[in-house]
Amino acid sequence: MPQYCNTMITEYWIFDKSQKELEEYCVKNGFKKYAAEQIMRWIYSSRLFDFSKMTDIPKLLRKNLTDNFNAALPEIIDTQYETDTCGSSKKYLIRFRDGGTVESVSINYKNRKTLCLSSQIGCRMGCAYCETSGLGFTRNMTSGEIISQILAVENDTGGRITNIVFMGMGEPLDNIKEVEKSLDIISNDKFIGIAPRKITVSTCGLLNVLSGLNLNEYKYKIAVSLNASDNVTRSMLMPVNKKFPIESLAGLINGKKPSIHNKITIEYVLIKGINDGIENAKKLIKMFSPANVKFNLIPLNKEQNSIHLKNFERPEDAEVDNFKLKLAKAGFTVTVRFSKALSINGGCGQLKAKTINSR
Ligand code: SF4
Repeated sequence: MPQYCNTMITEYWIFDKSQKELEEYCVKNGFKKYAAEQIMRWIYSSRLFDFSKMTDIPKLLRKNLTDNFNAALPEIIDTQYETDTCGSSKKYLIRFRDGGTVESVSINYKNRKTLCLSSQIGCRMGCAYCETSGLGFTRNMTSGEIISQILAVENDTGGRITNIVFMGMGEPLDNIKEVEKSLDIISNDKFIGIAPRKITVSTCGLLNVLSGLNLNEYKYKIAVSLNASDNVTRSMLMPVNKKFPIESLAGLINGKKPSIHNKITIEYVLIKGINDGIENAKKLIKMFSPANVKFNLIPLNKEQNSIHLKNFERPEDAEVDNFKLKLAKAGFTVTVRFSKALSINGGCGQLKAKTINSR
C-alpha cells in the first residue's frame, strides 16, 4: 500500500521528475543514466512506490532514493459516488503537500474509465458559467500533481484509467509546461501508457498558446470551449474572448488540415435564452466546416444551490434537440453530453474543490 502524503515538504517528490531530470540526477550521483527509466517503470508501470523493493536497481541507488525522494501519493480526503443503469461516476477531493485541494472525476461507462483531470488550483479565466471560476486562482499544479491524480484514483478503484480529459479545474493551456511534462509520462507506453488518441486537452481558447501547439501535428485531441456564436455573448460568458475574439479562434481552427480521425471538438455549453437559439446554430454553421470540427453540446450544469450561476438556466430538452438537429443537418458530427455525475456536482463546470477535512 502506498503511504499518503501530508508531511512537510523536505524531499524531492518523485512524481515531479521527468525522465530527463531523473537521468541527470542518477548521473550526477554516480549511477547509470538508464536507471532512471527502470525507476520510472517501477513507479508508473508496476505502481510500486517503495524504492527499497525495486530489485533490479543497485542497492546504493535504492538507499539514495529512499533518503532523498518522497513517493507518497496525495491524500484523497473526500469522495462522492453516483451510479445508474449504464455505469458510475466518482468525484474525488484530493489534497496535495501544501494543503492545496482539487477535484478529479472518474467516469466509468461501457468499458471506458475516463478520468477528468485538474491542471490548476482554481482558475483565472473567469468563465461566467463555471463554478471553478468562482474560486479565483491559487496556483498552477506541478506535473507530479497532475499525474498523481491518476495514481491516487487508480489506487482507490483498483482498475486502470483508459481515457484522460483535461476538463477539471483550471485552464490546461495556462499551465502548458507542466501539462506537457505530465503528458510525456501519461502517454509513454513504458510508463502509464494511455494512448494519445485517448487523451483530450481542453481549452477556453488561449490563442497565444494554442497557435504554438502545431495543431496539424499535435498528437493529443483538442477541445475548444466556444459557447457562443458572436463576440458580445462570448465576451460576457468568457472574458478570454476580449483578448482572443471568436473570429481569430475560428481562423486558427479552420487553418488546421482536415483530419477524419483528429477533428477539433467544439464544446458548447447551452444556456437557456443566451446562446441556444437556432440563429446561434446558423452562425456556427457559417463559421466552421464539418471537415474540421465536431460539436459537443453540453446543456448547462448548475451545482445544486449555486449562487454563482444564479442568472443562468438549463434549456429544455426540446431546445437542445433542435440545436443539435440544425448542426447535424449541415453535416456536422454532433454529440450531446448530458454530463455524468450531476447529482454529485461532478459535471463539466461544476468542480470547485470544497475543503473537507475528513474522509
Ligand atoms: S470553464 Fe475552464 S477555463 Fe473557464 S473558468 Fe472554468 S475551469 Fe477555468
